[in-house]
Amino acid sequence: MAKSVRASVSKRNKAKLRATVFGPVVDARTQRLSAKLQELASQPKPNAERSGMELDITKTNDHIDKVDANVSTSNEDMDIDRSSVKNAQAHSNKSGRIQKRHKKSRSSIVFQPRLAMFEDNDNITAVPKAFDKVIFMVVDALRSDFVYSNNSGFLFTQSLIRSGAALPFTAYASSPTVTMPRLKAMTTGSIPSFLDVILNIAESDTSSTLAYQDTWLTQLKARGGQLVMYGDDTWLKLFPGLFERQDGTTSFFVSDFSEVDNNVTRHVPKELLRDDWSAFIMHYLGLDHIGHKAGPQSPYMLAKQYEMDSVVSRIYTSMEKEKHLQSTVFVLCGDHGMNDAGNHGGSSVGETSPALLFISPKFQTLGSFRKSPINPLKDFQYYRTVEQTDITPTLAGLLGFPIPLNSFGVFIPEFLDLWESSLKKVHILLENSKQLLRAMREAFPSHNFEPDLNSSHCEIEPLLDIEVARCSWFQVLRLLPDSSGIGKEELYPELESALLRFLKVAQRVMSSAASNYNLRNLLLGLGLNAFVAALSLPAAYKLLSTSGYAGAFFALSIISYGGMMFASSYVEEEQQFWNWTFTAWVFYLHIKSAMHPHCSISSKHRLSKHHNLYAPVLTRYGAVALLVSHRVLRRWNQTGQKFAAEPDIARSFLPSQRLVLWSLVALTYAYTCMCLFAHRCHSRLWRLCCFIVTAAALILKLAFVASDFPELLYETVPIRSGGILDGGPLILFTRLVMGGIFSLIPVSMYFSKGQQRSLGKEDFPSTVFHEALTLFLITQSKATNIPIFLILRLHAHIISLMKLSVLELTITSLIVQYMTFFAFGGSNAISSVDLSNAYNGVGNYNIIPVGVLTFVSNWSGPIWWVSATRVLRSKQARHERQAYLAVITFHLATTLISVMAACTALRTHLFIWTVFSPKYLYAIAWAIFNHLTVNFVGEILFLLKANG
Ligand SMILES: [Zn+2]
Repeated sequence: MAKSVRASVSKRNKAKLRATVFGPVVDARTQRLSAKLQELASQPKPNAERSGMELDITKTNDHIDKVDANVSTSNEDMDIDRSSVKNAQAHSNKSGRIQKRHKKSRSSIVFQPRLAMFEDNDNITAVPKAFDKVIFMVVDALRSDFVYSNNSGFLFTQSLIRSGAALPFTAYASSPTVTMPRLKAMTTGSIPSFLDVILNIAESDTSSTLAYQDTWLTQLKARGGQLVMYGDDTWLKLFPGLFERQDGTTSFFVSDFSEVDNNVTRHVPKELLRDDWSAFIMHYLGLDHIGHKAGPQSPYMLAKQYEMDSVVSRIYTSMEKEKHLQSTVFVLCGDHGMNDAGNHGGSSVGETSPALLFISPKFQTLGSFRKSPINPLKDFQYYRTVEQTDITPTLAGLLGFPIPLNSFGVFIPEFLDLWESSLKKVHILLENSKQLLRAMREAFPSHNFEPDLNSSHCEIEPLLDIEVARCSWFQVLRLLPDSSGIGKEELYPELESALLRFLKVAQRVMSSAASNYNLRNLLLGLGLNAFVAALSLPAAYKLLSTSGYAGAFFALSIISYGGMMFASSYVEEEQQFWNWTFTAWVFYLHIKSAMHPHCSISSKHRLSKHHNLYAPVLTRYGAVALLVSHRVLRRWNQTGQKFAAEPDIARSFLPSQRLVLWSLVALTYAYTCMCLFAHRCHSRLWRLCCFIVTAAALILKLAFVASDFPELLYETVPIRSGGILDGGPLILFTRLVMGGIFSLIPVSMYFSKGQQRSLGKEDFPSTVFHEALTLFLITQSKATNIPIFLILRLHAHIISLMKLSVLELTITSLIVQYMTFFAFGGSNAISSVDLSNAYNGVGNYNIIPVGVLTFVSNWSGPIWWVSATRVLRSKQARHERQAYLAVITFHLATTLISVMAACTALRTHLFIWTVFSPKYLYAIAWAIFNHLTVNFVGEILFLLKANG
């Protein structure tokens, strides 16, 4: 329902605004930028360029080439001399135009690759800087309450807040809340694109470098400062070659809680003794890793907070003691927060609310003593909430450099009192306003910021944000002193608040308008998918057209799914679609079996023989059993957006009923073990092997839980790992267990020599493979999700009793794959990616095993069903298998087309970053991993085996 609130008038206005101005903006922006550098914002006088500008709009979408071209010359621009700037601009502009004809559009980043400079470099009004150096300490995923709340471990930091030496804020971090985009926001002051989510994951990618863009780091560097950096190597990728000294740590090895941080802290003492740097950056990862692995309530969390607090204390003590650190501002911040599960990437309030503190003994003179710890005003909102992008202009003001060109930030007004003269305060805000006004004029060329035109309508309440911004700028102009720069002092307080008002609304306008997309690649992806769909269409059509109602059902589900992808709230709640589709499909199967009873009763029950007792009951009431167990499954993990916080089985019921949880877990393991027995029932040695492997897998699970989620074990299970299995031994044990699970397959082949004929070929070897895979998937699942496998087994058993046609089995397989993905807690939000099992048995960070394990632990439901339906399809003929493959490929291609089309069409939609682009990433993951790897390759192997 929050959706309807969000879809208010302002949203409609923004959409309209984008529709009318977005296209022109992109084209005209860079064209005018260089030429306008000099007159920007100084005075809004009518310019002759205007008419030329309208012409520019008709030009093609080639501004990006110019940005690329500018990169090559940007080093020259770093000179602060005005005249040389002019030349450099003219030069780069020219080279841009020449290259434009030859180069094709490539990059999609809209940043201005130049450095901002003061217009009046030698003007007397220039504000003296308050600090010379900055210590920038990022603690990854430092949610506001970790620092400010009553249960925080940041006791020393809290004492600094009380003494006035630290100014605390909650910094709003917009989605996507992953590290790389957040670092971009904190250093450039602008809002990055959703592409950065992919780049954040594809760690090896270096294309998203900020080395040539205008950031507070490049500004400091351009002023001859040296920069040093320790911690998350994302910084080194964003700013290659910028740091004098550096030591990067990789950010994806989340099971490492201490080493990543020790590697930063060991550099701190010696850096604090040196006085050659002007920026000392640290990025601690341990707290984020604890979040991913064990959640914000983990016992490790508080210990980590104490550790981080001790680093703060050490730095602050040095700042008081060391002479060369006396003019240093210390920024402590999180890049993003985390949700209740300890993950991030989405837009929930926990994820978007990191802490932000500016610390210096100098701030005590401001006399702003605050209470600490305190209770939040709203969820996770402590003290005043500022934008994360505000860090950039604030540092610019404090350290005395011009605000980076692409910044949408607002100087945090709490620091204005560092300057006594109100002229200087006004000057700082004015610089900020001019810079934002410049950005706004480029983004909205159709809007006029000249006061003499049509300013009378400001008396009636303007509707659009851009109009509000315009009117508040006129108000600033009215209060502004004349061109000499020195005016009536008594107006300054009023001017100050007028400037702040303008800054705030201008920031809102710019934040909602900032986006840029590479349309060509989006269309290329669409085309590729259309090709795949066309390839699989003939085979799929042949099957669909002859299958009556089932074919119609399939077509209808594809169409409705495609339509759904265009509505943000349906994308967020996709699990509902699959739950309802499953229910409808079960009804269809039930009705069909009632009409043709001879079809539904399988004379021979294929899965295993000891089920025969229940078979008649299940055959008759199968549909009912499916629906009832599906109800339970739906309740297992509440997912999506609307109901995500509601009580469910995995997060509310089972943790409080630990005996039930562990009984069910033990039952799941025992049942899997029995199924393994059943397939090679004649050999005692085989049984022993199965028992040992299953028992070892169960002990392994207990050891994992004991180390990561000990609260699930209290008083229930007597096993205390007591650290025996921590670290190296646990990794070794994990590898042994995984090796044991997969060696069951060759071992079973050995034992089955000679028995093969008596057992029938259909059982071999896919069922043993299926059981071993089940054991592996259980190991890769969260403890609270393990009992789901019992329900899945029930479903598979019922389905095996229904005699389904090829298409019906295919549709069933598809629906249950999607349905269980969501039942295991998956959603279309980045933040629901579960990393807690991604490092099982991995000693050193390596993208391939970690990637595979991440996929397996998040897609365990779908993978299980692919394997289970393969067992069900073991009797299919070759052409039936090909038809199966064609139908699922067709389904995937068409759904992918709808997702891509939705993302392309809605690329300016308000929720593109929070809803549509994550869905896009999930769709790609489904396509590449679940379809191409699991479904397709599995099926090809199957076909080959059947042939050979
Ligand atoms: Zn993280």
